Amino acid sequence: MLQCSIHGAEDLRIEDVPCPQPGPDQALVKMGAAGICGSDMHYFRHGQIGKFKIQEPLIPGHEASGVIAALGANVTGLDEGQRVAINPSHPCGECSRCREGRENLCDSMFFLGSASVFPHAQGMFREYFLISAKQCIPVSKQVSLEELALSEPLSVGLHAVNRAGNLCGKRVLISGSGTIGCMVLLAAKLDGAEQVTMVDVLEEPLAIARKVGADQTLCVKPSAVPSPELTNEFDVAFEVSGAASALGNCIELVRRGGTIVQVGTLPVEGIHLFANQIMVKELDIRGSMRFGNVFSRAVRLLENQRLNVKPILTGRFPIAEAAKALQLAFDKTVSMKVQIVAD
Ligand SMILES: [Zn+2]
Ligand SMILES: [Zn+2]
Repeated sequence: MLQCSIHGAEDLRIEDVPCPQPGPDQALVKMGAAGICGSDMHYFRHGQIGKFKIQEPLIPGHEASGVIAALGANVTGLDEGQRVAINPSHPCGECSRCREGRENLCDSMFFLGSASVFPHAQGMFREYFLISAKQCIPVSKQVSLEELALSEPLSVGLHAVNRAGNLCGKRVLISGSGTIGCMVLLAAKLDGAEQVTMVDVLEEPLAIARKVGADQTLCVKPSAVPSPELTNEFDVAFEVSGAASALGNCIELVRRGGTIVQVGTLPVEGIHLFANQIMVKELDIRGSMRFGNVFSRAVRLLENQRLNVKPILTGRFPIAEAAKALQLAFDKTVSMKVQIVAD
């Protein structure tokens, strides 16, 4: 079977390796589709993301769907041939954060396709992979494997909206119109947001946002000055782009007493904020990290075709062409979600 692994910056290799056998509590899954995420692109280009550095070959990929190929002796509730979404999150279940129901903040999180732990948590850019059976969420055949592989990014959007509090009747600003921005948009609409405005520095991702339901879109220049076309009447702003100036804009544009949810990864240094505005406007600024207990809900929403996610899927490539797929994913004028597929 083929697998894709990153050995260092710009050193991606396609390897032919033997297919593994499931342990007693594991499932062997044939990969269906696996999305390329920003973190995979960072590992590919720089060999690291933030302080997580590749120390041994890393198989990327944490957004996948697949079909059960074989099951361990102890596994119940799953069948061979069944389609599944894979929850890449494996919290310890025992630390204080886990016990208070905030598993995404687990002290010893094991998250697939990540160099945050050593040995690394190997991901799903491979033809077959082993996974604990409880991380497989079975679905009916009515949803495509490509759409199902959006369960993880959709979970990120649902979690961000949960962090914001009830959006019913609210005016919402989303800064950054990539996959996660669009997922926050879908989740905000589902939660009853009255009007959602998307902002980005490129027109092409905004065109996709309009297709998936944005009420208003605005292409802005990358600068620290908020656009005069926007008013400061937003109740809630989601900062998804990870640009420091964009967070500054959110602070300016949200109304007094409003809420800002930080979803994007900001630069480590050099952030200049209108910090006094946080005090003067009594802003609530909250972080949103990956996702909590919403993965099954994301899977059901996709399974029941409740959301129009098809415009987000912009490309699919076989494992052998993973490097090409990753290169393409960097070009945001043509790509939103590029996926690796096994067939
Ligand atoms: Zn992701
Ligand atoms: Zn824990």
